[in-house]
Amino acid sequence: MTELTSPAPNGARALAAPAISFEFFPPKTEEMEKNLWETIKRLAPLAPNFVSVTYGAGGSTRERTHATIARILSETALVPAAHLTCVDAPCADVDDVVARYHEVGVRHIVALRGDPAGGIGSRYTPHPQGYGSSADLVASIKRRYPDIEVTVSAYPERHPESTSFDADIDMLTAKVDAGAGRAITQFFFDNDLYFRYLDRVRARGISIPIVPGILPVQNFKQAANFAKRAGASMPDWLAKKFEGLDDDPETRKLVAAAVAAGQVQKLNKHGVDTFHFYTMNRADLVFAISHLLGIRPKTAREAA
Ligand code: FAD
Repeated sequence: MTELTSPAPNGARALAAPAISFEFFPPKTEEMEKNLWETIKRLAPLAPNFVSVTYGAGGSTRERTHATIARILSETALVPAAHLTCVDAPCADVDDVVARYHEVGVRHIVALRGDPAGGIGSRYTPHPQGYGSSADLVASIKRRYPDIEVTVSAYPERHPESTSFDADIDMLTAKVDAGAGRAITQFFFDNDLYFRYLDRVRARGISIPIVPGILPVQNFKQAANFAKRAGASMPDWLAKKFEGLDDDPETRKLVAAAVAAGQVQKLNKHGVDTFHFYTMNRADLVFAISHLLGIRPKTAREAA
């Protein structure tokens, strides 16, 4: 095993509680918005490094993502990171979104290529006036706004469109060369996949933090569906743990907490000190898992 998410400069293992970040999606309805804000209020005292808000396929949530980010900036002390994709859009439109973010004070963007309208796996063709790749998007953001931190994606099981791990890591290299300072991984359930990927990435000389993306399984069928679309594997042992629980949400929740807590605790034991949680806009599981990682709520003054 080689270097981890953010190796301590002297090689020592950090004893402090891990650093965390949370991902939300922009709400569609008033009720979903209320639920998101209850979630944000519950998770905020855990003092995440940042909270990110996704950008719906092909820019479909452009305004809602912006509104959510703007509200986080104006009503909380949290540091927001705005996801942004360049698929199916001319550069000018994408640049306009970045300019609006910069204007309201956003200094962190999760820059992605995104999926064509046909969904992940359908052939990607850049918009005629658009960015050719996610690396081009990263380069453009960093050229125009050096003060914006750019995070990108990484795929421990490689992206479904990539022809090989080498080709996949070529793209990560291009994104790092363009100025990306961190990568967040697609979710995975088998920690060995992450460590093997990390070995490959470090062997290619990439030294940015590769932060594991953790998906607590709130709903097994839904998670299996996501995994299928994203090219992530669902191990049989995981399916077995949720067997027979379709109509038992209480037990499902306890099992989900145990599974995700086990995963992050094992990663942490092997030196991983930073985690990104796909929250699905729900607080309970993520709060419990963070607690088991040793993270405790901070008062507003402590968090400042
Ligand atoms: P890239 O990093 O640009 O490419 C991924 C891999 O695909 C490359 O390594 C390469 O092997 C291969 N590849 C890329 N382009 C080509 C090509 N033209 N030909 C052959 N191979 C190619 N989607 C959203 O719509 N909104 C979001 O907010 C969002 N957030 C995400 C956050 C994270 C942390 C992750 C991991 C994914 C997220 N996605 C999101 C999904 C993402 O948009 C899709 O996985 C998409 O298919 C790839 O975009 P990317 O920037 O990850 O791809």
